[in-house]
Amino acid sequence: NSVFAHVAQAQDDPILGVTVAYNKDPSPVKLNLGVGAYRTEEGKPLVLNAVRKAEQQLVADRSHVKEYLPISGLADFNKLSAELMFGADSPAILENRISTVQCLSGTGSLRVGGEFLASHHHQPTIYFPTPTWGNHHKIFTRAGLSVKAYRYYDPTTRGLNFHGLMEDLGSAPPGAVVLLHACAHNPTGVDPTLQQWEQIRKLIRSNGLLPFFDSAYQGFASGSLDADAKPVRMFVADGGELLAAQSYAKNLGLYGERVGALSVVCGSSDVARRVESQLRVVIRPLYSSPPIHGASIVATILKDRDLFHEWTLELKEMADRVISMRHQLFDALQKTGTPGDWSHIIEQIGMFTFTGLNKAQVEFMNKEYHIYMTPDGRISMAGLSTRTVPHLANAIHAAVT
Ligand code: PLP
Repeated sequence: NSVFAHVAQAQDDPILGVTVAYNKDPSPVKLNLGVGAYRTEEGKPLVLNAVRKAEQQLVADRSHVKEYLPISGLADFNKLSAELMFGADSPAILENRISTVQCLSGTGSLRVGGEFLASHHHQPTIYFPTPTWGNHHKIFTRAGLSVKAYRYYDPTTRGLNFHGLMEDLGSAPPGAVVLLHACAHNPTGVDPTLQQWEQIRKLIRSNGLLPFFDSAYQGFASGSLDADAKPVRMFVADGGELLAAQSYAKNLGLYGERVGALSVVCGSSDVARRVESQLRVVIRPLYSSPPIHGASIVATILKDRDLFHEWTLELKEMADRVISMRHQLFDALQKTGTPGDWSHIIEQIGMFTFTGLNKAQVEFMNKEYHIYMTPDGRISMAGLSTRTVPHLANAIHAAVT
């Protein structure tokens, strides 16, 4: 007899549910390729040296206290995050046209941006690529936007459906918001080329659409912070407006610290100031103000030449290990003579490979080989190691033959 007796059991989150199932499996050969977090060659989570050093500095600094941050977060963090995303010499920064607020990682940044748009944008409709990160639909629906789709992935080529993308965005109503993965599209690992980005940019600008970049993997995709930010910066260079959500979960390994930023690039500094005041109105009743620790770590690293340099090396090392896993898996499938073209494994970019394995094959690999991944056949390359590649290659071979 509870007042909540009528409450139904909700479905587990499809992505986080994979880890729940993995944890329950007693098999010694089990392999979790569902989790979107970096693992070392030994399969361990990694805290970057740059982060450890920044934390030591913070502990030693007696002036570093635990006071509340302002609603919009740590000022240094916001300024440095905008510079990291848009480039320190970005005209939009120099002209004070960007309002940046610290938010709860990428997810929180998207949510705050979504609520702001629902209240203040004349066309509260957002277009997502098909497929997209599963949480996008929930975040933006809850934020009060209506959700539409544009074609993105072509299963026959395991690449980009550029024609479909252009057609769908071409028929979106003026003002519609377009969600774009800044780099390392999740779950497909398929990104437009820079030439294609340029065509997308022209279409978005000429049709008066509003780009909203989700940047969850800056530096993690190619190993270069600047290269991965290129598409976003192309859209800033044309003088137009946009939103960008940044996450430090993957590139600084700060997953559980929940540190990220939302930037709104505006047409003038006057608009940017008013927009920021409204972002504070969104944030205050949600969680009052963001947490201080993660943002202090990020600000410490971004401010310090040596720490920043060390971070870029560590970031490159993570990206390179992921890329090396792609090559090792591809080579292993060649060696086992697995039928099919597996070149997409080395062509896709970022943390995930969209294998093209179907639901039945995923279930087979799970049952027979204790390999865990999302039902769409997405595997986290960051969860793989030289030691586990043969097990995965054997499982894929058995699944497709
Ligand atoms: N956006 C995309 C495309 C992602 O893949 C993720 C993480 O998996 C996020 C946003 C947000 O992650 P977080 O809230 O942990 O920063």
